[in-house]
Amino acid sequence: MATNAVLDVPSKPILLDKNQRANLRKGFYPALVLLKCLNEVCPQKYSQKSSDSPPGPNQSPEEMFHTLVNKLAQVCDTHPKGDTVTALAVIEHNGRICYIMASNHRGTASMNKARAGLAAVLNILKCNLEGETPVSDKVAGERLMRTILELHTVRVRAYLTSFSKQLQECIKRCDDNKPEGKAAKEALEGLVSTIPDTNKDGQKSDGYISATIRCIKTIQQTRNSSLQRYIEARSVEDNRMAKGGSWSILQHVSGRLLSYQYAVQTLVHAHHIWADTSLFRDFDIASVRSSGPYPAEALKLNPEPAEAIINRAPGYNQTQLEPYRQHASDLERYGINAKLEDMYSQQLDPVVHAEMLLHDWLSRTEHGIQSHRFFLNLQYIGSSKPPCRLCQEYFTTISTPVRFRSGHPNTYLNWRLPDMYVNNLKDEAAIRGEKSRWGQTLGQMRSRVYAAVLRVLEEKVSEKKALDSNTYSERITGIKDADRLANWLEKVEIRGGRS
Ligand SMILES: [Zn+2]
Repeated sequence: MATNAVLDVPSKPILLDKNQRANLRKGFYPALVLLKCLNEVCPQKYSQKSSDSPPGPNQSPEEMFHTLVNKLAQVCDTHPKGDTVTALAVIEHNGRICYIMASNHRGTASMNKARAGLAAVLNILKCNLEGETPVSDKVAGERLMRTILELHTVRVRAYLTSFSKQLQECIKRCDDNKPEGKAAKEALEGLVSTIPDTNKDGQKSDGYISATIRCIKTIQQTRNSSLQRYIEARSVEDNRMAKGGSWSILQHVSGRLLSYQYAVQTLVHAHHIWADTSLFRDFDIASVRSSGPYPAEALKLNPEPAEAIINRAPGYNQTQLEPYRQHASDLERYGINAKLEDMYSQQLDPVVHAEMLLHDWLSRTEHGIQSHRFFLNLQYIGSSKPPCRLCQEYFTTISTPVRFRSGHPNTYLNWRLPDMYVNNLKDEAAIRGEKSRWGQTLGQMRSRVYAAVLRVLEEKVSEKKALDSNTYSERITGIKDADRLANWLEKVEIRGGRS
């Protein structure tokens, strides 16, 4: 197994020219800043999205594979705050199975660590399949859990800190004059006692990791209890408020901790399901280099009021825009222009988001995104977090056949298009072609951002969701229909299968 590859696009990058930089500075980013601002100031509509729901009990084999890929991406997303958000695909590369990953914003050292971490996890499964005395699923699961928690020390610490804080808040808010409130309070206090003590053990020590595992198991045990129903009912009340309150954050963060248990469960099931392929036996791990910074000149935005940005909406004349300007002035009661000013003062540092980066690398290398390049012909790019609004819009714009997780409606200012490339920097026709494609895609993205701006202005309801990772975690819950799976595996061409 090779884990030392950092892959670049095998052609030459073209730098942004003056017009393109102006296009970003005056056309695209101001519209995006306004959209972000509107989503911040307008009240949120709450709806339970399908991607937020617990997994269906009858996942198809394709869905099981998607779940596996997402869980492996989660293994690589070791730190909070977004830099290590990871996209992952299983492809055939140089005639071998290759796990290929890309992250939002990772340097070489961090990327090397991520590949080594993924290798450690996959090797547990490999050893179990190829060793003379395979261990039980329980033992394999424990090994996986320890390895993953060790890789995720920083993230788990952040979850546990928030879990502890929200538990304290929620305990205060239990109505212990009523029997159900009193019972919930006691159960929450029981959960507090399971939180590992950072002072007692080092965070990578066996003791600390064992305590974390016990804490996660206790969370799992509460899932079907009256406490869970109590938390869920309070979370629904929380979600009707503009900002998520303690109950919904508690529900979310306990869901994130529990997701480790589901990741492990998924990996253990998956190594049985695909035991006869080379998926966990003979593979490479590679990563795509994260994108570089944009030139400062492309990002030097000129602060302006909402009305000025609205006036440049493509495809509308000034008369048509009049009602939208009125909507914007109505939104002054939410302090829209003060919020805009505040956003203009933030330093932009856009990156190519992980799933777009990986998609772009695949598109620009031999065999592109054709189905035969993917394991079992499944054109799928998984990710540790659901794709953001702009990434989804981008994939719609370029009409890719590749599938992704269902996304969330939030937008980020630090989003950008992939770089442009040509094989030969003296090939002017190729450069013109590449720049024209870039311009068209940016134009379409800009129109989509404006369409969202006008919609929010009209409805005055934000499209934003409070937490952009899922509270409920997908997982492979077991093979309900082994025959159906066997038939499916026979039908698809198993690439890289053992011969
Ligand atoms: Zn994105």
